[in-house]
Amino acid sequence: MGDFNLAQIPDLPLDLCIGGKTVPASDGGRFDVINPATGEVLTSVADGTVEDALACVDAAAGAAAAWAATAPRERAEVLRRAFELMRDRSDELAHLISLENGKALTDARGEVAYAAEFFRWYAEEAVRASGAVMTAPSGANKIVVLQQPVGICVLVTPWNFPAAMATRKIGPALAAGCTVVLKPASDTPLTALLMARILEDAGVPSGVVNVLPARRSGAVVSAMVHDPRVRKLSFTGSTEVGRILLREAADQVVNCSMELGGNAPFLVLEDADLEAAVDGAMIAKMRNAGEACTAANRFYVHADIADEFSRRLAERMAALRVGPGTEDDTEVGPLVNEESAAKVAELVEGAVRDGARVVLGGRRPDRPGYYYEPTVLLDVPRTAGILGEEIFGPVAPVVTFTDEADAIRMANDTEYGLVSYVYTSDLARGLRVSEQLDSGMVGLNRGLVSDPAAPFGGTKQSGVGREGGHEGMLDYLESKYVAVTW
Ligand code: NAD
Repeated sequence: MGDFNLAQIPDLPLDLCIGGKTVPASDGGRFDVINPATGEVLTSVADGTVEDALACVDAAAGAAAAWAATAPRERAEVLRRAFELMRDRSDELAHLISLENGKALTDARGEVAYAAEFFRWYAEEAVRASGAVMTAPSGANKIVVLQQPVGICVLVTPWNFPAAMATRKIGPALAAGCTVVLKPASDTPLTALLMARILEDAGVPSGVVNVLPARRSGAVVSAMVHDPRVRKLSFTGSTEVGRILLREAADQVVNCSMELGGNAPFLVLEDADLEAAVDGAMIAKMRNAGEACTAANRFYVHADIADEFSRRLAERMAALRVGPGTEDDTEVGPLVNEESAAKVAELVEGAVRDGARVVLGGRRPDRPGYYYEPTVLLDVPRTAGILGEEIFGPVAPVVTFTDEADAIRMANDTEYGLVSYVYTSDLARGLRVSEQLDSGMVGLNRGLVSDPAAPFGGTKQSGVGREGGHEGMLDYLESKYVAVTW
């Protein structure tokens, strides 16, 4: 399906989705969406203004009381239909993601399946929001705890998983009874707009989900979090922008969930099953061409097996087919934009200056689009700059160690704490090491941790709160305590 084009999705909205209507921006502005495989313009979408942002909040406020009062079973069934519609339209969604984000179709299909599962999971959770009743320790009264929707939510998502980062927020918000405004990343607004259509078709009432593509993200998000009707901000993106938004949210003390950057260490202990470790490394590093917050960013491999591990990893990475994401046999698509490709090139050049040895790749291929070759770097010094930054590209720097405690210390030596990976054949040792790794998630003999049924999130500067699992819904609920005498 290399010739897929947008005309094949005739119901794709290209304007703002506010209060159940598709409307142009208040000032008529539009912005282009670029195909990263060619650098060409795919289409343009309405560019939301501050006025439009406040119209989204009006729509969400207008729908809030009725949605919060809808029976949980009814909300669950709407989400279940959204899951089914996503599954029915998975091919279109995957092509759309691949077109605007660049990722290989296999990755895009994986994302659609993962994204849809958030609707199924939260359809199941919607009917399980529990409260509590207990007798006060003094015996004087009862303590009743109700769970109520937190209120109107502003959801801000990144470009690297345009469908899944949206459903991971919309699913629990709708299950909890909240209404939302979604501000998708400007590089990938089309997937979010198609999701708005799917949710409408699933029976989500007008105003419950509003989608606001906007290039002036700072201005529109700031206006919304300063509107006293907005009570929740859920953001996925870089730590840098997360810090700005935490400050913005402080003015009205808005409840915040933050899924921020990562710098995942991937530890291969000397007793690891090497084949399994290389398989896991390929997933942890190469899913989405390395453009994942969970991407393995630093490989710490025991010196006894480092040569063999690196040789096998380089062999597997060299065999990957690089090309436009929408071509069926592509395994590694282009990066999302020129800035990303240039940043990866700069990090690799810096690592080489720091003393790393390039055993595979190490350059941008000579073709249009924002490509970077799968790359393996050996002998990376422990102090190399590349180990301190999110690479967000198909580059695997390998560092050796001889002492387990030293490896754990290096793994934890970062301001991030999203996910870590450990490979060992000794499960007890693996659990002991997992406990010592300072991250919200650990992949133990696994290169993939994301699961709608599990609490996803980070420690330190990787974020606040959890998405997915039962915990994910609690982020959209407020406990109300009623002291009762009866
Ligand atoms: P980004 O921070 O640049 O942008 C994220 C979103 O915020 C976009 O919608 C963008 O338009 C918006 N934005 C940018 N500046 C803003 C501002 N001043 N005010 C309000 N909104 C603003 O991130 P990105 O480049 O789109 O995504 C990559 C980053 O996201 C990486 O750091 C990655 O690790 C992180 N990420 C984290 C997770 C997670 O779950 N922890 C998941 C995916 C991506």
